[in-house]
Parts: sequence; C-alpha cells; structure tokens
Amino acid sequence: MTNLEKYKKYEELIDKVVTEYALSLFPDGLPEKLYRTGVNFTKNEYGSFVEECFVENVNYYFKGNLQIPSYNKRPSKIDVESIRLISESLSIHDLNESGLYFLVKTNTCGFAVYFKEFNDKKASIHKSEMEVIVQEKIEHYKANYLVREKQFACSYCRKATDNDKKIKSEIFARQYRNGRQSFDYCSGKCASHDQMAHEG
Ligand SMILES: [Zn+2]
Repeated sequence: MTNLEKYKKYEELIDKVVTEYALSLFPDGLPEKLYRTGVNFTKNEYGSFVEECFVENVNYYFKGNLQIPSYNKRPSKIDVESIRLISESLSIHDLNESGLYFLVKTNTCGFAVYFKEFNDKKASIHKSEMEVIVQEKIEHYKANYLVREKQFACSYCRKATDNDKKIKSEIFARQYRNGRQSFDYCSGKCASHDQMAHEG
C-alpha cells in the first residue's frame, strides 16, 4: 500500500466517526440544502435576503493534539502515522459541536457553515425560519438606516438622521487632500469615533 492509500483508509475511518456524530445532531438525515441570511444591496434595497446553500460535505475541524494533516494529496510517512493515531483512537465522544461544519455551495461561491450558526440562528435547514429572521433584519434596517426625506446617512454609523440634527465635522487624515475632509454625522460621538478610526 502506498502512503496515499494508507492515508485515505485512515481518512475514511475519521469521516465515518464525523458522519456518525453529525447524524446524532441531525437524526432525520444530513440536510441537502440549508439556508442563511445573506447581505447584498443589489438584490433588494434593504440588503438582507435568504441565501440557499447546497451541502457538499460534512466535515470536522480538529484542533490541538488531533490536528489532521488536512486532506493531504501527497502524505509523508509521518503524516500517515499521525492520521493513523487519530483514526484509531477517535470516537464520537471526542467530538463537539464547535468543530462540526458543512461545506456548502451557492450559485456564486463555496464556504463552510459551522454547526454553531444553527444555534445562533444564522443558519437553518428550514427556509421559513430564515425568512422570519431576514424579515426582522429588513424591519430593523427600515427603522434605522433607510434614509427618508429631509434625512441623511451618518458617515460613521450609517443611521438615517434628520437633517436638522446634522453635525458637520472635519476628519484629519493623510488620505484626504490637504489632510482633511468634512463629513456629516448624527452626533459628536460618531464624529470622534470616525476620527479615531482614521487614526487606526
Ligand atoms: Zn452616527
């Protein structure tokens, strides 16, 4: 057996335990699709939308002593030995929610969705659940950030603010012509935070 063949064999053992663990969290079977909240202002004027993701794979992030020489294509003898030790001692009880993730794809890109995002309501296997969250985000956006007549968006916090509460303030920074530029803020606090942000 070549190093790669041995490595693959141990990798499969680990995948089996990871899948078993994932199924303990998703007893109805691993999802084929999941939903998240996306942000894209070209989709709608409020930015937030429900993003449909296709699950490609379930995976696990091993830390510390369990570090896997991650999905190696040309494993060395040491890599094989290291993954052998992990695979032979690994049990479902060694795993916890913080390491589990799904590799997903959308129409535009691929990324990891960690299990904890389900707990934090940032992801769900139910579209309707994410639709409720997105609706809340849109309401929040409308109430705070949608600029109406006689209003402007604060240059720092972006909140919609009545024109008569506008505070003009000069920000000093090298990137501006003459080292300074004037911006509109909702408060003196935002003006000073923005100055600090420019000083970085
Ligand atoms: Zn502000």
